[in-house]
Amino acid sequence: MKVAKKVVLTFPKHTWDKPIIYTLHSRHHLMFNILKAKITPNEEGLMVLELVGEEEDFNRGIEFLKEVGVGVRFLAADIERDDDECTHCGACISVCPTEALKLDKETMMVIFDKEKCVGCELCVPVCPFKALRIKI
Ligand code: SF4
Ligand code: SF4
Repeated sequence: MKVAKKVVLTFPKHTWDKPIIYTLHSRHHLMFNILKAKITPNEEGLMVLELVGEEEDFNRGIEFLKEVGVGVRFLAADIERDDDECTHCGACISVCPTEALKLDKETMMVIFDKEKCVGCELCVPVCPFKALRIKI
């Protein structure tokens, strides 16, 4: 059975120059679509991507990531913003890896573009007004 899942990968400093994503494709036959990447030499990196492949390959690929020290978090959360609570303080913008939270420079208001949200939950704890929530 084919699976397609969005994941957040965190790369420890020592892994930045390793062909980890290439290996997911070449050895584990997974296709990937990189949604966001912040990889800097000798710093912890972050990547949000969609992985697609046969279930067995997918599970092996995830095991491989964990073995080499990459942090793996699956994205599933449905995020909503309570517009009555949002003060447009901007605290959430810098943590959003996909620019789903963005400043509209004309109105100086923070826009939440749900289409771009991958449900990584990074914004939820940084909102001082608890306007961003996981929908349950
Ligand atoms: S951190 Fe919260 S209050 Fe501030 S702009 Fe983002 S959603 Fe709005
Ligand atoms: S959960 Fe928050 S930080 Fe993550 S993509 Fe959606 S809006 Fe951006």
